[in-house]
Amino acid sequence: MTGRLRPLLAGVELGGTKVACLVGTGPRDIRAEIRIPTTGPAETLARVGDALARAADRLGPLGALGVCCFGPVDPDPASPTFGHVTTTPKPGWQGADVAGTLGRRLGVPVGFDTDVNGAALGEHRWGAARGFRTFVYLTVGNGIGGGGMAEGRLLHGLVHPEMGHLPVPRDPERDPFPGCCPFHGDCLEGLASGTALRQRWGRPGEELRERREVWDLEADYLAAGVTAITLVLSPGRVILGGGVMQAPGLLPRVRERLARRIAGYLRHPRLSGNLEDFLVAPGLGSRSGVLGALVLARRAWRGR
Ligand code: ZN
Repeated sequence: MTGRLRPLLAGVELGGTKVACLVGTGPRDIRAEIRIPTTGPAETLARVGDALARAADRLGPLGALGVCCFGPVDPDPASPTFGHVTTTPKPGWQGADVAGTLGRRLGVPVGFDTDVNGAALGEHRWGAARGFRTFVYLTVGNGIGGGGMAEGRLLHGLVHPEMGHLPVPRDPERDPFPGCCPFHGDCLEGLASGTALRQRWGRPGEELRERREVWDLEADYLAAGVTAITLVLSPGRVILGGGVMQAPGLLPRVRERLARRIAGYLRHPRLSGNLEDFLVAPGLGSRSGVLGALVLARRAWRGR
């Protein structure tokens, strides 16, 4: 037995299509990993709670739970709707009390934040953002979202940043697709998410690998978004994750266009050359979010 208190923790990354759950203390100490499809809130949260309770029976009591969740959400611990999903278009989830439901089921303190702040926290602790006080994690999947830190603190602001909904320039002659965001049409998510790829080209990204024009356009939009983020926040690094970024060659294409947009204006060694030290893939692969949820759990345990 060690003299240091290292409680067993649980992390939950609640996504639009699946929930990733993990029990352990970090990437080198994962004791259980569970995946559950996202259906309605009552059923999904009951299945997550049951699965973690069974894991705790087997592995030992949990000290705390961390949850990072698709949104928009209320991450303000002082708010009466802390830990709730707020205005999502996802059927049934509007107003769902995610943190409260799971916390009561397991009887532990709960840390809660957005899915992308969770991923940012995971990358900061163990991945590609180690040592950076100001950075952004942007995920490009079915939707687009961004989280991160400024001067070592997670970005929250009034609600939380919604970098996926940045306006980006669209030339209607080159790209007549009007965008698929239900709120804004041709925002970044409306033009460059996996959903947008599928709707514009009539098939998913995996079936479009050979079509150069698909990825040139995709890289143009992503570079426009990353340029805006870079100019506003001056991050030391931007991490691009999510399923769409699995497309071979996409990351270097975005770097190329980002370099053109920055145009030598921002002077820093990391912002010159091919930007391979500035715009990077996640260090934790697809586990950034669920491992970040463990960091949220540890914070909740410390603050209990
Ligand atoms: Zn939008």
